[in-house]
Amino acid sequence: MTIYRGTVLDTPVDPFTGGTLRADADAGLLVRDGTIEARGGFAELRARHPGEEVVYLRGGLVLPGFVDTHVHFPQVRAIGGLGMPLLDWLSRCALPEEARLADGGYARAVAAEFVSGLVQAGTTTALVFGAHFASAVDALFAEAARTGLRITSGLVVSDRLLRDELHTTPQRAYDEGLALARRWHGVGASRYAVIPRFSLSCGDPLLQSCGSLLTDVEGAWFTSHVNENVREIAAVAELFDGRRYLDTYDRHGLIGRRSVLAHNVHPSDDELACLASRGASVAHCPTSNAALGSGLFPLARHLAHGVRVALGSDVGAGTGFCLLKEGLQAYFVQQLLGDDGARLTSTHLLHLATAAGADVLGLRDRTGDLGAGRRFDAVWLRPSAGTALDVALRHAADPEDALAKAFVLGSPADIDTVWVDGRPCRSRNPVA
Ligand SMILES: [Zn+2]
Repeated sequence: MTIYRGTVLDTPVDPFTGGTLRADADAGLLVRDGTIEARGGFAELRARHPGEEVVYLRGGLVLPGFVDTHVHFPQVRAIGGLGMPLLDWLSRCALPEEARLADGGYARAVAAEFVSGLVQAGTTTALVFGAHFASAVDALFAEAARTGLRITSGLVVSDRLLRDELHTTPQRAYDEGLALARRWHGVGASRYAVIPRFSLSCGDPLLQSCGSLLTDVEGAWFTSHVNENVREIAAVAELFDGRRYLDTYDRHGLIGRRSVLAHNVHPSDDELACLASRGASVAHCPTSNAALGSGLFPLARHLAHGVRVALGSDVGAGTGFCLLKEGLQAYFVQQLLGDDGARLTSTHLLHLATAAGADVLGLRDRTGDLGAGRRFDAVWLRPSAGTALDVALRHAADPEDALAKAFVLGSPADIDTVWVDGRPCRSRNPVA
């Protein structure tokens, strides 16, 4: 067993419903086989377990591993395409790159870059939009399994309005999805998700086949996009005889507790009520929404309806893998909404980046905080001496202030070590 000693911050109880930041300046976490067996003050824990190895994470902050609830595997190399709204960005930046993943070698290289990008940013769990090619999705699952990253992912399907090589048929989508699920669903930390790209690019027969696959793969997840951009929403309404966007999925049985819809920047109250009644979740992707000019996310309305919300990086429309940056941008958006915005503290931001994501993905029993019984998925944020974050942390007034400084100033460059399931999978320096 190992005792990890450090300054540990987490949010075991939802701060949107009265929880507060749990902050232990000198905590001990007793970890055996990847599970946190006990947590307490270091001195007291050490006295109870005098023979165990101690790893002292001196300085900085120890946080739960981040949970990214919306990120695109094939878009690592498409990050940074500025100056376009959604539909132009898709056709000029994202889709040409996604077509290249038909090539197996290319897909394996991108899978390695993608998983590395997540881990370097401190993300230990992710719901991932896969690729349009089954062989590329295999490459992603294989790479994630190699590192131990907890991913839920699957084949992305469409049958219109993209590019010919990205289109499939309802039967092929079902068959390839089922074969992938048989290979990867429930294997290690991997789970399968049914993923129509968005209703704009999926006709009813294809969405119906997605519903069949979701029924036939027990415990599978569903994810897609909804209500991101006003032009997109109008086009969907036109294609589906005026239906609301969420209904295009719901009528095929795709909306339930294991459903995560990305964006939802422009929802109707009916759609929010539907999401809440089904127990479905929304992945809020603030840098993507800003970069594409999609709009300001109505978090307060989601909370008022009781809809689960967590953060997504939405790489590559999002501006990187770092959920600290997404948290800060989420804060900016609510500030810009004025009286309509939710009032967020750094505790809310940590919750959105960790425990809320774990809850959205049904993994709260395993990850999302650093309490006894959870797996040791953790990030040690320890900036180099003399950086602005280092100075700020050393002069923080209290733990919530330190956490605010981490969200405002932190980046992947400030992350020293990342553990998934108790195994270090990124280490800037040997832990001493
Ligand atoms: Zn997306």
